Amino acid sequence: MSGSLKGLVALVTGATSGIGLGIAHSLAKRGCSIVVNGLGDAKVFENLKEDFARQHGVDTHFSGEDLAKLSDIQKLHNDVLKLYPRGLDILVNNAGFQHVCPVESFPTETWDAMIAVMLTAPFHLTQRFLPRMRVKGWGRIINMSSTHGHVASANKSAYISAKHGIIGFTKTVAIETAGSGVTCNAICPGYVETPLSMKQVEDRSRDQGITLEEAKAQIVGVHASKQPVKLEHIGEMAAFLCSPAADQMTGASLVVDGGWTAQ
Ligand code: NAD
Repeated sequence: MSGSLKGLVALVTGATSGIGLGIAHSLAKRGCSIVVNGLGDAKVFENLKEDFARQHGVDTHFSGEDLAKLSDIQKLHNDVLKLYPRGLDILVNNAGFQHVCPVESFPTETWDAMIAVMLTAPFHLTQRFLPRMRVKGWGRIINMSSTHGHVASANKSAYISAKHGIIGFTKTVAIETAGSGVTCNAICPGYVETPLSMKQVEDRSRDQGITLEEAKAQIVGVHASKQPVKLEHIGEMAAFLCSPAADQMTGASLVVDGGWTAQ
């Protein structure tokens, strides 16, 4: 297991489920205190709190703020500083969601919400948390892009625009922080089995009248490996980016996609 993160504090957005939750576990098991943000009811938060206490024994806080709203982002920032006046050491901008629809009929409010959560919220959070990282001379900003930050597919215009955009944002922040001890990188997963991707499997299965297994095989079929990416693969990549071995990695967009984009 790469490097201890004891004494550090991370905010992982979209960590009530899927990839974000996997990253939160990978950081927490290295001793990092975690602020878990995401949508969910009190029961979800209660269960997560028990899980983290039992499995990792680290300080864990939960925030149900909606990252589509600037007022919620501001509250999240204030809450984190109340808990940790020295600010964050690690910011993982991971929250996201998908909507599949041709561009002609793509709902404007859905476009706005997707860009807000997956591109604008990372900007607001970076702007707010970066200054204290600079003062400390160390920080890690990890943005969740996708293979869809490198290539496109039909009917995902907002998602693909946000995921391409976050790679540009990542490179810019990396250049602005170069040499400061702060790094900024993007992770670009292929297909990972989570509620977000399972919805697409279910839709494809229904639309094409095929089984869930057949639909999954079609989607994973774009990977050269024909195998899905596991949550641990992404969690451990994030932990690696926080380790001393990654001190000089910045501005990268790291594909973890079973060879999808190599083809
Ligand atoms: P998921 O649905 O399991 O988790 C999404 C998380 O984002 C949840 O915690 C949800 O509460 C949170 N979220 C959504 N809208 C929010 C909002 N307005 N405010 C705060 N939190 C919000 O999905 P996932 O597959 O784990 O996706 C996580 C990230 O990984 C996303 O950015 C997604 O685009 C990216 N990604 C996923 C895959 C995949 O195959 N699953 C592949 C590439 C990239």
